[in-house]
Amino acid sequence: MKILVSHCFLGEPCRYDGASCLDRQVIELHGAGHELIPVCPELLGGLDVPRSPAEIQPDGRVIAQDGRDVTEAYRAGAERALAIAREHGCTVAVLKARSPSCGSGEVYDGTFTRTLRSGWGIAARMLAEAGIEVMDEEHLQASLYL
Ligand code: SF4
Repeated sequence: MKILVSHCFLGEPCRYDGASCLDRQVIELHGAGHELIPVCPELLGGLDVPRSPAEIQPDGRVIAQDGRDVTEAYRAGAERALAIAREHGCTVAVLKARSPSCGSGEVYDGTFTRTLRSGWGIAARMLAEAGIEVMDEEHLQASLYL
């Protein structure tokens, strides 16, 4: 199966602070016979590394900690990620928990106080609404390793 994955899981230093989120369990999906298709929606949307961290506000806009409204970059990156998923026929996506792009089910609340709320990252929501099964690295399905 082709699985869309957050690029930072594979060691790509694309996080806002220039770090990666290397994740052996996600990489092991490759060993289990899957092809991993990496995307970083924030870079696909034209943002740079490093960049100011951003959070989704209650009104749906994505605002960086430096005050910039980066909503359009997040939307554009989500659309690119969805186009890549479709191009490769991905039906599953494993995306980074709590990210304002990649998070599924839980994101930070927009106050930059590390407070979580229920919600979805911009790309994760767009992918899920398009019918792709989205999960984060903390909820990997055991069946993917069979
Ligand atoms: Fe990783 Fe997603 Fe953030 Fe890119 S947008 S650094 S892939 S969590």
